Amino acid sequence: MPEPKHTDRRDAMLSIARAGVAGIGIAALLSGCSTAAERRVKARGGSLGEPIPEDPIVVNRPWTPDRNAVAVRPGTLTDSVPAGVYTRQQWAKGDPKPWLADPMGMIRRITVHHDAIDAAATGSPAKIAARLDSIRRSHLARGWADIGYHYAIDAEGRVWQGRPLTLQGAHVADQNQNNLGIVLLGNFEHQMPSPKAVESLDRLIATEMRRFGISLSEIRTHREMARTECPGRNLQRAMDATRTRGGRLASLAAGDISG
Ligand SMILES: [Zn+2]
Repeated sequence: MPEPKHTDRRDAMLSIARAGVAGIGIAALLSGCSTAAERRVKARGGSLGEPIPEDPIVVNRPWTPDRNAVAVRPGTLTDSVPAGVYTRQQWAKGDPKPWLADPMGMIRRITVHHDAIDAAATGSPAKIAARLDSIRRSHLARGWADIGYHYAIDAEGRVWQGRPLTLQGAHVADQNQNNLGIVLLGNFEHQMPSPKAVESLDRLIATEMRRFGISLSEIRTHREMARTECPGRNLQRAMDATRTRGGRLASLAAGDISG
C-alpha cells in the first residue's frame, strides 16, 4: 500500500501546532512541494499530482529497466550515501517508519523538486537541519514514513540524506515507484537557484545515475510528471539547460567531464 496521496491538512496543521514549529510559515510547511501551485491546480478542478494526459513521456512510454540497474537492498553498498553527503543522523530527530512505506527495489528514475519555502536556505548546517526536520515532521503528520524526498540540497550546495534509498519516496503522486526524489531548498518560482546548489544537484544526479545505471532520459522535474509548478520556473530552466547536449549534467553523464 503506497503512502496516502492526499493531505489531511487539518490533522497536519494540528500536529504541527502541537510540535511547536517556529520560524517557517505553517502554510509552507504543509506544502512538501509547491503548495500555492497545487492549490491553484485544485481550485481549477485539477487532480493533484496526476500525470498530464497529453504528456507523451508519462502516458505513452512504459518504464524499461536499464541494463545495469541495481536494486537497493538494506545493508548493501548501494544503501549507502555518496561521500560528502550529510547523513540523516546529522539532522533527523527520529528514524523512518519503514512499515509505512514500500521498499524501493530498483532505482530507475530521478525526479527534481523544490520545497516552495521562501526562507533562504543559506547559513549554518544547524539552520538547514532545523528546516529539514520541520519538513520531515510535516510529512510525518500526513501519516508518511519519513521526509518524502531521498536527498535535499541547500543554497550552499550541501547535500543532505533524506529518506533512505531502501524505501520508496513520497514525492510524485502515483509515480513514486523506483523513483529517487531530490529537493532543492527554496522557492524557485521566485528565487534563482544558487550556482553552488545547481552544481551539487548535477553532480549528485550524475553520481546516482552511474551508481544505479539510470539514463539521462529518466531525469525529470516534478512538473514533467504531474500538474504542478514544482520545481519552479527558474529551476526548471536550469534543468532544461543542464540536460541538453553540452549542458553540465549531459556532459557528466556522457563522461565528457569528470564528476
Ligand atoms: Zn515537487
